[in-house]
Amino acid sequence: MRAAKRTAQATPESLHQIFTIAEAPDSTLGVIEQEMSHNLAGFLGNHIVATKNALTDIEQDFIDAQIPEQPAFVSDHMDHLLDKLVAQSVHTSSPSFIGHMTSALPSFILPLSKLMVGLNQNLVKVETSKAFTPLERQVLGMMHNLVYQQDESFYQAWMHSAKHSLGAFCSGGTVANITALWVARNKLLKPDGNFNGVSRSGIFAALQHYGYNGLAILVSERGHYSLKKSADILGIGQESVIAIATDENNKIDCQKLAEKCQQLAKENIKVLSIVGVAGTTETGNIDPLEQMAAIAKQYQCHFHVDAAWGGATLLSNKYRPLLKGIELADSVTIDAHKQMYVPMGAGLVIFKDPESVAAIEHHAEYILRKGSKDLGSNTLEGSRPGMAMLVYSSLHIISRPGYEMLINQAIEKAEYFADLITQHDDFELITKPELCLLTYRYAPKQVQNLLTKFNNENDKEALAAVNLLLGKLTKFIQKRQREDGRSFVSRTRIEVARYNGEKVIVFRVVLANPLTSKEILHDILAEQCQLAQESENFLPQLLSAAS
Ligand SMILES: *Cc1c(COP(=O)(O)O)cnc(C)c1O
Repeated sequence: MRAAKRTAQATPESLHQIFTIAEAPDSTLGVIEQEMSHNLAGFLGNHIVATKNALTDIEQDFIDAQIPEQPAFVSDHMDHLLDKLVAQSVHTSSPSFIGHMTSALPSFILPLSKLMVGLNQNLVKVETSKAFTPLERQVLGMMHNLVYQQDESFYQAWMHSAKHSLGAFCSGGTVANITALWVARNKLLKPDGNFNGVSRSGIFAALQHYGYNGLAILVSERGHYSLKKSADILGIGQESVIAIATDENNKIDCQKLAEKCQQLAKENIKVLSIVGVAGTTETGNIDPLEQMAAIAKQYQCHFHVDAAWGGATLLSNKYRPLLKGIELADSVTIDAHKQMYVPMGAGLVIFKDPESVAAIEHHAEYILRKGSKDLGSNTLEGSRPGMAMLVYSSLHIISRPGYEMLINQAIEKAEYFADLITQHDDFELITKPELCLLTYRYAPKQVQNLLTKFNNENDKEALAAVNLLLGKLTKFIQKRQREDGRSFVSRTRIEVARYNGEKVIVFRVVLANPLTSKEILHDILAEQCQLAQESENFLPQLLSAAS
């Protein structure tokens, strides 16, 4: 008899369940699976996020450059891995590991990834991925739909068309950004008369042909470093990535952006692309995308949105409006391995115009023949795994409302943590969360008052001296917390508008793990207070300055 069709529903309980996992069998392999499962579930004893071993100690286990002459039994090798690798790994899934965008995975990912690896399909060409190619095209269609919301006939027409592609699946946001700017470059410097286009003739000939003095990529000073990598390999040069100042909310200053566009036009430097960031890596803020799109239109340049981290917010009907204007972008980067809870190696770029990818089309005789549906003809990477399956499966298993719950929960938890920090006398909130990311630092009330005083007096030197000490203290606390291994927050250095744009060292927190409880957040602050007391120099110096 066939089982009755189940109807699943996304509830907070069911979401909690998918981030926890059942016990695994008690074999060596089972132990590893269990260890991994526990990692996945975030159920680690005492919420330990990392071993106490220093990196240089761990390196001693990986010191031998000889390829083994002796074979090993798999079971023995598993023991070896358990000891040397698993035990010393960073438990990114621990609910007290809240420092990075790499976080917990749902438990169903482990069996599904085995299936994916076992099938070993290669997405470069249909001949090695007959079902996976249509699946990946469908995933690109779904993600295109998430951003651009075209009608059904649009997807019926383009999703599986040999001459088109709605995007490119790749290993991550870096390659997605490179691909987007590659398309923008080749479309801008396209073949024209006798000129064969930048793709065939190179950047020097292209600039000469079109008579430009140079190219520029404009992005806020919070832009991701992958844009510089892109400019580097596309032959444009890192110096052509121009950082535009941000306002006090870490959003690009559109006035300054427009002024820069005008200035560059006068210098005959063509803007290759304006890049909006939807969820900056350091502060999680979203640029005013609608305004940026209008500027891009005025200067007739490509508009790319780097939503590597924040793009998943589109799955939440409640918070989707934060990304208003993203649908005006010519291309959008989204990392499924960040807020979509897919393991690493899952990035994608989506193109508004299904014909865009023709600009980067490459062919070869034995594969990627003209007219084939091979995805490899318009991806930077060659051989590629079937990661799209994990995005496909996650979208089915979690569903849009399930993702909405995860995203809403994360944002609301960040707001809770921000309130906690604001109300605490010994902490200073540096950037308020717009999504589930915030920055703050340890600064006792009297030191905060001192900063306010110096600020009012416009005493920049005194301000800088206090910020320097606070920075050292923040660094001390963050390192100790990481080494102790109970919890982890990351740290970064950002300009803070209220301190005259001075760069200060801050803790950075990403609240993506659904199992991170309010209790854990309280514990993390308590631990940081405790560690501050253990700093031999910095805190006493600060307190004596403030008294
Ligand atoms: C993470 C991130 C990237 C880079 O993505 P990878 O997957 O690490 O290559 C690019 N841009 C932004 C805004 C990001 O947050």
